[in-house]
Amino acid sequence: MKKFVYFITLLISKLQKLIGGGTSFPGKVALRLKPDLLSQFKLPATRIFVSGTNGKTSISNYLAAIFDQAGYSVCHNTAGANLKQGIVTTFINHANSKLEIKSDALVIEIDEITMIPVFSELDPSNLLLTNLFTDQIDRMGDKWQLARKLSRELPAGLNLYLNGDDPVLVWLAEQIKPQKVVYFGLDPATISQETNPQIEKCPYCDSELAYNVRYYESLGRFSCSCGFAAPKLDYVATEIDLFGQTFLLEDQLYQMPYAQLYLVYNMLAAAVFAKETGIADQLISNVLAKQESAVGRFEFLEFNEHEAWLNLVKNPAGINQALDYLKRELKIAEQNKQKTNLMLAFNNLPADGLDFSWLDQANFELLQSGSLAAIYLCGTLQKQVLELLVKKGISAEKILLVDDISESIAKMKTSNLPSYFLTNFTMLKSIRENILKA
Ligand SMILES: [Zn+2]
Repeated sequence: MKKFVYFITLLISKLQKLIGGGTSFPGKVALRLKPDLLSQFKLPATRIFVSGTNGKTSISNYLAAIFDQAGYSVCHNTAGANLKQGIVTTFINHANSKLEIKSDALVIEIDEITMIPVFSELDPSNLLLTNLFTDQIDRMGDKWQLARKLSRELPAGLNLYLNGDDPVLVWLAEQIKPQKVVYFGLDPATISQETNPQIEKCPYCDSELAYNVRYYESLGRFSCSCGFAAPKLDYVATEIDLFGQTFLLEDQLYQMPYAQLYLVYNMLAAAVFAKETGIADQLISNVLAKQESAVGRFEFLEFNEHEAWLNLVKNPAGINQALDYLKRELKIAEQNKQKTNLMLAFNNLPADGLDFSWLDQANFELLQSGSLAAIYLCGTLQKQVLELLVKKGISAEKILLVDDISESIAKMKTSNLPSYFLTNFTMLKSIRENILKA
C-alpha cells in the first residue's frame, strides 16, 4: 500500500509539473489514500521546521539557499506550500519508494495551526518560530488563543529557535518543556521606538507588560512585576544601521537587501540556525546579501521612470511596518518636491480571512503627506478602507474608488510618478500582473 501510494502520488506530481499545476493536489490525493502517510517518512537528521506569523517564507527560503551553497542537497517546500498536503507533496518528490527522504537537509515552512496535526505524526526535532501576532482571526483566534492552543498540542523535547523579543513565544517556550531553547533578538541601542503601541498584557498575571524598548507590535525588551521577562539572548543583532542597511552578528557584517527592521529579524533567524548547524559565518552572510525578496514581498518592479513598490500585507504588524516605510518615502518625496501615487487593494475573501478588523489597527495617519497625489482604492474592502482613511485625517479629495484595476494602473504608469502598491493575499496576483503589463 505504501509503495502504491508513493508511485501514484509521484506520477500525479510529475504530471502536474508538466501542466504547471499547484503543489498541494498530489499530497491531497496521497492523504486520501493513506491518511497516516506522514508518519511513514524517514527524515534527514539535519532538519528544521519554520513557523510563525510573519517571515516564515523568507526565512525558510534563506535557509534552503544557505544549505544549498554549503553543499547540502535540500528538501524544501518552495512556493509556500505550507499546509499538510503541500508538505506531503514535497516529501514524496524527495523520497525513494521506501519513503526515505534522500536529501542532506530538510527545510520546511509550516503554517502555525498545521504544526499540530503534522507534529503528532513526525518528529520535527528543530523548530524555529519567528513571532506570533494576531493574524487570520477566523482560523486561528487572536495570538494568545493560538499560543494557548499550541502550548497544549506541541510536543515536548524540541530544540527551539525563538525570537526572544516576543513575549508570546517566550511564554510558549516556558509551557512546552523543550530540550533546548536558543533565543535571538535585537540590540536596543541603535533602534528607535514605536510611537503609540497597543497595551500588551502579561500572560501570567494579566498586568500590563512594561517595555524598556519596544520595536513594533509586541516585540521589545519587556518585563512584568510577577517576574515574567524578556530572556537573555543567545544571539543579538548589534550595530543595526537601517540607512546603511547593515548589522553585525558576532563580528560578522550582514548586508541587507532593503531597509526594514523585520528583515533584520528574518536574516538573524536564518543565520542563527545555520550557525548552530556549523555553517561558516562568511558563507551565511554572502548568501543572505544576495537574497531577493519573494514575489510581492517588498518587491520593486519595472514600471515607469520609477520602479513600482509592491508589498503584501495581511495583519496589523505587516501593514504598520509597510506604512512606516511609506512615511519615510513620502518625507523624502516632500523634500524633493516630488508627487507620488499609492494603491491600496484589499479583499476579504475566504483566503484572506473574512474578518477584516485588522485594518482598524493600521496607522493610516502616517499617510498624511502633501506629496501623495492620489490614493487608489480597490477590492471588496474599498469602502471600509475609504472610511478608515478619512477617519485618520486623509483628505477624501485625493482618494479614488477604482472599479477597473487595469485601467487605473495604466493611468498610474502614464502619470510617471513613483508608485506604491499595498495589497493583501487575493489581490496580489492581479495587481502584480497589471503592474508588469501596464
Ligand atoms: Zn505578570
